[in-house]
Amino acid sequence: MPKGQCHCGAIRYEMPGEVAHHAACHCTDCRRATGAPLVSWALTSAEAIRIEGTPRVYASSEHGRRHFCGDCGTSLFYTNEVIFPGMIDVQSATLDDPGEIPIQAQIQTAERIGWMATLHELPAFERYPAP
Ligand SMILES: [Zn+2]
Ligand SMILES: [Zn+2]
Repeated sequence: MPKGQCHCGAIRYEMPGEVAHHAACHCTDCRRATGAPLVSWALTSAEAIRIEGTPRVYASSEHGRRHFCGDCGTSLFYTNEVIFPGMIDVQSATLDDPGEIPIQAQIQTAERIGWMATLHELPAFERYPAP
């Protein structure tokens, strides 16, 4: 089972490698909540995931709940009992091996940062570029 954790390790989890959906979200809400230009989400059953530690929960919309580590601030999970009852969205970039679960789609591109669409065209360096 793929394993993941927050930055400080106070919250650890194990989830199935087979997920209902795995998508990279460009929405403004995800961006604001994480500080990242895009957030990848792997949707799985809330019963199938094992979570150690107790995340803090923030109501980011009427029914949306964002779960994060209260110690280090890493955002980890999203639940919404109206849109997907009994399921939990996992921020797959917090997996020990984030490439382990294949990604299927980009969503909410209507709200994507303009430069994200052409990011792959920028100069790329394996490490920090030489000064
Ligand atoms: Zn933490
Ligand atoms: Zn989003």
